[in-house]
Amino acid sequence: MLEIEFENPNISVCECCGGKTTRLTRFVHKDGNAFAIYYLSFTDNHPDKSIIGIISIGDWGSDGPPKNRKSFPFKIWTNEKNYQIGLIDKIESPWQDALLGEILNRNEALKHNWIKDVFHITDHIVAEDILAIEYLNQSNG
Ligand SMILES: [Zn+2]
Repeated sequence: MLEIEFENPNISVCECCGGKTTRLTRFVHKDGNAFAIYYLSFTDNHPDKSIIGIISIGDWGSDGPPKNRKSFPFKIWTNEKNYQIGLIDKIESPWQDALLGEILNRNEALKHNWIKDVFHITDHIVAEDILAIEYLNQSNG
């Protein structure tokens, strides 16, 4: 069972357009244990209404070095009816922090054993992360 712990959003002004950029930090617990974190970022007046994000899975229960963490950068957008999730390459990730562990490119991520956990978490994002859902639904309206 996955549970998401929601932090307050971090709001800033987009350097490229003066729009409002929202950055979200979430902690994911699996069966009561620290399991993953994810970040999301979106800007209100960009023509490309997609959310960029990264999920880092690994030894979040310890304070040790993040050698057993892997990160999976992705995008979420909507078509007429459904949320779409696409993995992206490391270079496209606005987050490159060492604490995220190794950031995988799309082709590496798709072959990784943990990819099912990544999509399990994205299922929860589009069902439960209200700020992200509201942004995506706006773009669809
Ligand atoms: Zn901008």
